[in-house]
Amino acid sequence: MKKIMSVNAGSSSLKFKLFEMPSEKVITEGNVERIGLNDAYFTIKVNGEKQKEVLPIPTHKEAVAKLLKELLAKGIVKDIKEISGVGHRIVQGGWYFSDSCLVNDDTIAKIEELCPLGPLHNPAHLIGIREFMKVLPDVPHVVVFDTAFHQTMPETSFMYAIPYDWYETYKVRKYGAHGTSHKYVALRCAEMLGKDIKDLNIVTCHLGNGASISAVKGGKCIDTSMGLTPLEGIPMGTRSGNLDPTVLSFMASKKGYTLEELITILNKKSGYLGVSGISNDSRDLEEAVSQGNERARLALDLQYKRIADYIGSYYVLMGGIDAIVFTAGIGENSPRCRRSVIDRIQVLGAKIDPEMNKLRGKEAILSTEDSKIKVLLIPTEEELMIARDVVRVAKIEL
Ligand code: ADP
Repeated sequence: MKKIMSVNAGSSSLKFKLFEMPSEKVITEGNVERIGLNDAYFTIKVNGEKQKEVLPIPTHKEAVAKLLKELLAKGIVKDIKEISGVGHRIVQGGWYFSDSCLVNDDTIAKIEELCPLGPLHNPAHLIGIREFMKVLPDVPHVVVFDTAFHQTMPETSFMYAIPYDWYETYKVRKYGAHGTSHKYVALRCAEMLGKDIKDLNIVTCHLGNGASISAVKGGKCIDTSMGLTPLEGIPMGTRSGNLDPTVLSFMASKKGYTLEELITILNKKSGYLGVSGISNDSRDLEEAVSQGNERARLALDLQYKRIADYIGSYYVLMGGIDAIVFTAGIGENSPRCRRSVIDRIQVLGAKIDPEMNKLRGKEAILSTEDSKIKVLLIPTEEELMIARDVVRVAKIEL
């Protein structure tokens, strides 16, 4: 029995989950938010109960120190050395990483080199890795990349039809995101259906604040909706998804925006928020729709329509679909979203059971007996995948 820590370090946050392996039991979980402020939050679950503290946490160094101190103080571990390995989530693994790997000087240099492609995330991940390595220098540290699962995409899926030199010299191509989640739910889908994943064509819909869709054929990703960055694909909480790039120059000429401002607007002020003018949260929009708000309805419908478009195109790409999986905040919790998407692809023979579709946050098969495509609800478990990879990659004996 070993304890494995799964870490997700953001620019001002640090999420953690401590697992007991091989049972995969969650020992504790929590996060540090608002790092850099005098009133940062430290939250930890002890015996299922959430405990929150407000305190100054100037940098990630203090965040890691606080976390380890509390693990000891609350008796969750008696000695920090009980932690046998640490897994770090990395958003951008670029063209270098098609699987998780051990942290060493070479890995760090490559993650650093990829910072321009993941400017908001990779630098924060590196700080997290360095701080954890200082306090746990004798255990293996493993990096798990959001992009790794998508590295099996063929050229026809990952290339953009742009000057080839942009690809060769600057590595401009599609990398995708949420790969750990897509991989987990695809594996779990095969298990739930009692089938070998090699025999299945699965569309995985990770619908959270950020959202992406993947085509998983025989267990391998062959296309995904996010691109060079998470801006591509379907409309999301605050992101626009696909649009004609000329919109940028047109709006620059109208309003005098810089390129950077325009990209920020497409990342932070578009999607649900931009169209509805109300919120980036699907719950707020669903509530507004129930009160007759037409722009909220449009914001949701733009997304549902685009999800259906991707499913249709992946149906053609894979030569049929055996299963569609819904996961992440909206996929797991919004019957309205699932029903609206499946209604739009009726022509493919997918049918959802209205009673089953009321379920939230629990594994279930939602499709009717006579549906030609199985529709599944599978809560994602990215942190567990990270802990599993620590054991596998570092060859930790359990
Ligand atoms: P991210 O990890 O990308 O920040 P999440 O996976 O947490 O996003 O998803 C956030 C979205 O999920 C929000 O739009 C929110 O409204 C929706 N969501 C989360 N929980 C629920 C719930 N219990 N009921 C309905 N929607 C939910």
